[in-house]
Amino acid sequence: MNDSKTLADRIEDLLPQTQCTKCGYDGCRPYAEAVAAGAASYNQCPPGGAEGVARLAKLLGKPVIPINPVNGVERPRPVAFIDEQVCIGCTLCMQACPVDAIVGAPKQMHTIVKDLCTGCDLCVAPCPVDCIAMIPVTGEATGWDAWTQQQADEARVRHDRRQARLAAERHAAEARAAARRAAATPAGAASEASDASATSASPAAASPAATDDAEARKKAIIQAALERARRKKQELAERGAGPRNTEHVSADVQAQIDAAEARRRRLGIAADTGTADNKTGGAATPDQPAPNADQNDKPA
Ligand code: SF4
Ligand code: SF4
Ligand code: SF4
Repeated sequence: MNDSKTLADRIEDLLPQTQCTKCGYDGCRPYAEAVAAGAASYNQCPPGGAEGVARLAKLLGKPVIPINPVNGVERPRPVAFIDEQVCIGCTLCMQACPVDAIVGAPKQMHTIVKDLCTGCDLCVAPCPVDCIAMIPVTGEATGWDAWTQQQADEARVRHDRRQARLAAERHAAEARAAARRAAATPAGAASEASDASATSASPAAASPAATDDAEARKKAIIQAALERARRKKQELAERGAGPRNTEHVSADVQAQIDAAEARRRRLGIAADTGTADNKTGGAATPDQPAPNADQNDKPA
């Protein structure tokens, strides 16, 4: 053991790194810090399962206790699957994925890289057309029997890399905003006005009518996709084949589900019951802005 490691470091080393937030924290590291500080119990990580609790109990010199059902249940590990016929390419799932396991581009279908998916569920709730299903892939195996240390280590690296990238993007955005504010001084405003005038005079500028047409076409395409998704969802529900792994979600996850249902209502998709009985739990990462209907209604 590396003696320079803190207790939080050693706790984090024992966690499965799915970054699912089911423990009630924003990822494995914040949970490890909370356990080390005595602010959280060591039985709040469903992906680690009973063995995960036993590992933490041994490190902490505490008794083995059951997983807290408030945080979820130990289950066979699922992998996300996108129905590419229904996907409208809104990118909300990519924004929610904590380990960059989803590939795609705005307005193009998205795909899960199966080997990178930790089964965290976080992409399910943000999808406005309900085209992501969680499919169990480990048979009866659960917890650490369904997930290797190597997979955990790789997920941790991918998550850390993503966090670093998001932080860099945030800093760059802040720098751009500061530059814009600085340019909003009287001298900057005059310069902006001059730029705007030059732009509006450009022959390349799109006419308002052309912009309206493009907007209308896009809305019609999205509306048709939403309608297909609604019909598919209805068919699945009638066959009793709705989303799975939806029981025992935490209050935070339920709040995310409720937000997703509200979003669907804004998009004009028939709302369902909006309970944990028919949705898979998931929550956007704190780095992500709450997805909203505007992102789907406006051209990227
Ligand atoms: S795997 Fe999920 S529940 Fe377990 S510590 Fe990490 S984020 Fe929390
Ligand atoms: S379940 Fe979804 S969000 Fe989670 S790792 Fe897999 S693809 Fe990413
Ligand atoms: S959230 Fe759903 S519709 Fe949007 S890109 Fe992902 S899978 Fe496609």
